[in-house]
Amino acid sequence: MTNNFSIAIHGGAGTILRSTMTPELQAQYETGLEAALDKGYKILEAGGSSLEAVEGAVVILEDFPLFNAGKGAVFNNVGGHEMDASIMFGEGLEAGAVCGVSHIKNPVKLARAIMEHSGHVILCGEGAEQFAKLQNITFEDDAYFYTEQRYKQWQEALKEDKVQLDHSDKKFGTVGAVALDKYGNLAAATSTGGMTNKKFGRVGDSPIPGAGTYANNNTCAVSCTGHGELFIRSVVGYDISCLIEYKGLSLKEACDLVVYDKLVKMGGEGGLIAIDKHGNIEMPFNSEGMYRACRSSNGRYEVKIYP
Ligand code: ASP
Repeated sequence: MTNNFSIAIHGGAGTILRSTMTPELQAQYETGLEAALDKGYKILEAGGSSLEAVEGAVVILEDFPLFNAGKGAVFNNVGGHEMDASIMFGEGLEAGAVCGVSHIKNPVKLARAIMEHSGHVILCGEGAEQFAKLQNITFEDDAYFYTEQRYKQWQEALKEDKVQLDHSDKKFGTVGAVALDKYGNLAAATSTGGMTNKKFGRVGDSPIPGAGTYANNNTCAVSCTGHGELFIRSVVGYDISCLIEYKGLSLKEACDLVVYDKLVKMGGEGGLIAIDKHGNIEMPFNSEGMYRACRSSNGRYEVKIYP
């Protein structure tokens, strides 16, 4: 048993302008981040597993209406919600993920149930919701997922679409957590509503093990946020792990190379949180801001939005 444990969480990266951020709103975001961080940290402190900690933290973020996951999920181009989530445990590379579900209160819980009880890694849409019923996962109706802020964002995106055929939507947001527990096990979880006005049926990087979410006890745990298509093509989580495992890079070197160089060259806006097997934490992003927080048993504590 190691004594060292740590957790990092994010609430999405993207265009978070200081000019439109009020002190009240900032305080609300920080409250949400602190609650999730606290939940995960306490689980680790009490000797819980990293898997429990990342799930616990992500559930709090999914229930918090300001973040784009669960309750606060964005609207797709037909005015619905389609959520993606995944979870991965670094001890045996176990993974579970769900894509395109519309009525699951906490998609991360379903991802874990898929990992532990389905015999599969990814379930999508109706099949995933059928499986969720068998697992006694909590459902919510459409009204639960309606938030005024997201509806307005969708209306704006729709308007832009009409005048701008080649529409590139940059409304990001996602939540995630990575943790190292006292037993040396790493875990990662990510949950999202995807991108505002995304095409019906679109799946991003968040539920793809190796892309938006990855955990391997030999290297690190990673949870991403940003322009999902680019993160899938860059296989971001696994790339960082490979740079550590096969090239001997440190966590910081690997994260910097992927986020500030490789992704930037491809136009991949966003960021990630990562923890390595020694408990080091990195939270790099190449966008204007990223809602993020971390805490470790060696005393590091941060809650931040801007660089
Ligand atoms: N990566 C997510 C997706 O493409 C969105 C985000 O992180 O903001 O679905």
